Order: sequence, then C-alpha cells, then structure tokens
Amino acid sequence: MHCPFCRNPDSRVVDSRTSDDGLSIRRRRQCPACGQRFSTLETASLVVVKRSGVTEPFRREKIVGGVRKACQGRPVSDDDLALLAQRVEETLRASGSAELDSHDVGLAILGPLKELDEVAYMRFASVYQGFESLDDFESAINVLRTEHGDTAP
Ligand SMILES: [Zn+2]
Repeated sequence: MHCPFCRNPDSRVVDSRTSDDGLSIRRRRQCPACGQRFSTLETASLVVVKRSGVTEPFRREKIVGGVRKACQGRPVSDDDLALLAQRVEETLRASGSAELDSHDVGLAILGPLKELDEVAYMRFASVYQGFESLDDFESAINVLRTEHGDTAP
C-alpha cells in the first residue's frame, strides 16, 4: 500500500478494526518515511457464477436493478431498494462462500423482498421460480396467508 502523501511503497499497520456489520476491516497505517497516518478499508470480494458459467463480481446495483422492475407502481423507495441490496449482500457474505451461484443470489433476495412488499415479492418469485399456472400463484399466496395467520394478533 503506497503512502498517499509521499508515495513511499511501504506502510506499517498501527490498528485494525472490523466494521460493525462485520463485512470489512479498517486499518490505520503509518508511513515509515514521512510519518503520516492514513486508513485503508478491506472487503472480501464476492463473485457470482451465472448459469452460462460466466463469473462476474457481485454488485448491489445489479440487485437493485433486478428488484426495481418487480417494484414498479409499488410504494417502494430507492432507500428501500438500497437497504434490501445491503441485506442480500450481508446474507450472501454470511454464507462464507466467495463464489455464489446466481440461484443463491435470487434466493437471498426473496426473503427481504417479501418483508418489503408482498406484491413485488409475488412478481419477482413468479419470474424467478418460473410459475407456470394459477396453481403456482395460489400455493404461493396460501403460504403468505398462512404466515399472516401466524403473526396476526
Ligand atoms: Zn509517506
């Protein structure tokens, strides 16, 4: 890590702490040449393996883009979408695997999307899980109804 002040190619770690969400490590470094201190942030990279076998880096914007379509006309804000993408990333990182199947990514979206907006959830699930008939919708709706029954006062 180059010193940002004098470009010295070496630096010494003086402190490390994990962020509150556990997803990154912030290190305080000191340059042995000029004595300046600076911080670096380290995050482990996640890779998504698509059905075609092609890999691409995990990006929250992709999650937001995919879910936004299902949320058209629904009372869902950009902040809601950003928070959802953050939760999806946390879930995926918590799985402890650096390589993710695109199927796993879709699964990780379903849970938080259901909490956010059930209509958007049904739209997303119908595409993602390939609903082919009214029966598929009906059984998914019945699952939601049962869950409501469990939490009703
Ligand atoms: Zn320096």
